[in-house]
Amino acid sequence: MALGMSVLDERTFAPSAAGQAVPRWRRRPWFLPEGRRLSDEVWRQRHRGLTWLLWAHLPALYLFALIRGYSPASGVLQVAVLALPAGIAMISRFSREVRSASTSVGLVISASVLVHLAGGSIEAHFQFFVVLAFLTLYQAWLPFLLALVYVVIEHGVVGAIDPSAVFNSAADVAHPWKWAVIHGGFVLAAAFANILSWRLTEQEALHDGLTGLPNRVALLESLAKTLEGRGRSSTAVLFIDLDNFKDANDAFGHHVGDELLIAVSQRLARQLRVGDVLARLGGDEFAIVLNDLTRPDDAQITAERLLASLDEPVCIGEVALSAWASMGLAYADCDTTAPDLLRNADLAMYEAKRNGGGRVAEYQPTLHSAALRRTELEAELRVALERGEFELHYQPIIDLASQRMVGTEALIRWQHPIRGLVLPLEFITAAEQSGLIVAIGAWVIRTACAQTAVWQEGSPDRAPLTVAVNLSPRQLIDRTLVATVAEALHDSGLDPSSLCLEITEGAVIKDFETTMPTLNALRTLGVSLALDDFGTGYSSLSYLKQLPVDSVKIDRSFVADLETDNPNAQIVLAIIELAHALGMSVTAEGTETHGQLDTLRAMRSDHAQGYLLGRPMSGTALTGVLDADPIHVGGLQAQRPGQADGASAAT
Ligand code: C2E
Ligand code: MG
Ligand code: MG
Repeated sequence: MALGMSVLDERTFAPSAAGQAVPRWRRRPWFLPEGRRLSDEVWRQRHRGLTWLLWAHLPALYLFALIRGYSPASGVLQVAVLALPAGIAMISRFSREVRSASTSVGLVISASVLVHLAGGSIEAHFQFFVVLAFLTLYQAWLPFLLALVYVVIEHGVVGAIDPSAVFNSAADVAHPWKWAVIHGGFVLAAAFANILSWRLTEQEALHDGLTGLPNRVALLESLAKTLEGRGRSSTAVLFIDLDNFKDANDAFGHHVGDELLIAVSQRLARQLRVGDVLARLGGDEFAIVLNDLTRPDDAQITAERLLASLDEPVCIGEVALSAWASMGLAYADCDTTAPDLLRNADLAMYEAKRNGGGRVAEYQPTLHSAALRRTELEAELRVALERGEFELHYQPIIDLASQRMVGTEALIRWQHPIRGLVLPLEFITAAEQSGLIVAIGAWVIRTACAQTAVWQEGSPDRAPLTVAVNLSPRQLIDRTLVATVAEALHDSGLDPSSLCLEITEGAVIKDFETTMPTLNALRTLGVSLALDDFGTGYSSLSYLKQLPVDSVKIDRSFVADLETDNPNAQIVLAIIELAHALGMSVTAEGTETHGQLDTLRAMRSDHAQGYLLGRPMSGTALTGVLDADPIHVGGLQAQRPGQADGASAAT
């Protein structure tokens, strides 16, 4: 809260809602509301309530007139005047302004009727206070001021013509206009608390509660006004997202996260010039409207300066935290709207993140088309899942000692109606980003378990085939994963020991706290875990020791160089020995040649997988291979040069 205020107060000029500098003397006092337009829905609700209040005055005042001794007919005359504004307020073809003004005038007239019926009694005047307070609910100056002016004029005019109708003291009657103004002043003073609350509601709607900075709504409004004016050619938007905020929040708690956000907003604010608008969009996202840029690289220089300002760690209590940010920069051109410009800066920020974070990226139109493509792809994937366009292919995994196929790895394929067979690398990332991977992954687990159970039943005389299923990072943090796996095992009847789930180091390390309990729960179910693509990620030995995995899959990039690159061969050997020392088995991925296979066997790798031993193939193709040679499939192929790919149905 304090920050927003201090940023404004320290300067002679502050960004107005229009995003332009306004001299201090022309600024609205801080306690007065701007009078922002309520949304149609909210206005309708409030107007309906106030108009019903007005209608309710008719019978109430009529009853009061009878009590005060008026005849039934003259009682009607006293209150009939209210029917006109109450009626106008209900006609929907009139504008909001006309209808609010009508209700407001009607209510204030009802107060004067009450005073009149009460013979100018001072207690009856309290009704004006009540009405004016109610009218602040419109959050608009017109109905409020109209009612206020009415109070003054009515007391002045009627007080001069028929003093007993409005006043009941000699002083009032002697100076009707003086007392009319005093009445107005008191009514205004009595409504002041409501005016302040109206002001605070506006403040809340436009500001972020934590940092006190303008929020997204305020930023977009201010930007729209700048673009409408002359600022178009000299305006840029910088979208900022903290790279490590979630980690800090998870590791040290929300209060430290909040302090970090406040500290970051203060640092950013200090770097800005008069007229720039800094806003917090939510979470760890900020945006800055850079106005009045004169040189082409002004915005870039400012962005670099902002990045540098975050370099120094932020100290929160005992904790020193570094805040890295990714920034996206977009310039306004002749027809960009405010939301477009913010979105462009957001796309550029994602590009900065994709390139490793901690940097500034500038918006390019190609980013937009790539984002469109991603959105289309996500929509297509959703439909693909509903229409059953995914299928699983299975790649044999061979035991090097016995030369037998001991299991398969299930690899997803997308049978696209137009593009044909699409490989996972083209769509897994989009499925992951959209969260669809959870549903797709659940289908993979169910299908792989069911298919493997069928194979096991079909070959009762061989050791049960296992199946390895890949899990993406998003699946690992999903709360339903363990239940999904348990259900798939139960439904298929597959023994848990026949299912292996492949995870990557990155996925675990990214969210260690969440994923470790999940991994342990999976192990409790009885399934085994493998570390996929080992060697490409952190390959941290300390993590390897901590992870509850049963096997390690050496990435195919190491296997590819096995015969030509001696250091790589040493690495493979070291991985195998280390894994064995930790009680884990090893599978070498991407085995393509007999030389590689011999070397792996000599290095005592347990299993191998690769085109040499069998390509990924459809379930039907693998059933055919199993039927033809149920014992030695895969292992035998590897022994016969030239026959490996031909024997299996290549994808
Ligand atoms: P991965 O888990 O490392 O799977 C091995 C990849 O290497 C597969 O690619 C496989 O076709 C390919 N491969 C196998 N042997 C050889 C070889 O000898 N030479 C070469 N050059 N490549 C070989 P694919 O099927 O395109 O899958 C790529 C990646 O997509 C997988 O890598 C895995 O990370 C991911 N993926 C596949 N299916 C799924 C799935 O159902 N869920 C998730 N989350 N990811 C999946
Ligand atoms: Mg894999
Ligand atoms: Mg792999």
